[in-house]
Amino acid sequence: MNPDCLFCKIVAREVPATIVHETEETLAFRDINPQAPTHVVVIPRAHVRDAAALAEANPALVGAVIATAATVASSEGIVDGGYRLVFNTGAGAGQSVFHVHCHLLGGRPLTWPPG
Ligand code: 5GP
Ligand code: ZN
Repeated sequence: MNPDCLFCKIVAREVPATIVHETEETLAFRDINPQAPTHVVVIPRAHVRDAAALAEANPALVGAVIATAATVASSEGIVDGGYRLVFNTGAGAGQSVFHVHCHLLGGRPLTWPPG
């Protein structure tokens, strides 16, 4: 746990969040500022700053995060319509919370490229 990290505080239940799924290694909760009808953030419970650092430290945990996202996509009913998984990596790409997270977006048509 990083005491200065918002998502660690959500893992510790110090900051409330609408949790939709959890496993031994991961947590999934609704984004506070949703960009699509389904917008869920999936994180490892362990504090790691971004996707590249997670792949370096624990590749299996990258798989666990994506597996949780796929489980939530199914429970949200967005598999047939298609969904997007996004790891913003670095401030220049929009990362604002430096605890690695996968955005799960779906429930509406998603254009590509995203802009
Ligand atoms: P990033 O910009 O780092 O890729 O994504 C961080 C996400 O966390 C943003 O989409 C933002 O809306 C979301 N977020 C920021 N603060 C909170 C919060 O307190 N609770 C929840 N549930 N989501 C948050
Ligand atoms: Zn953290």
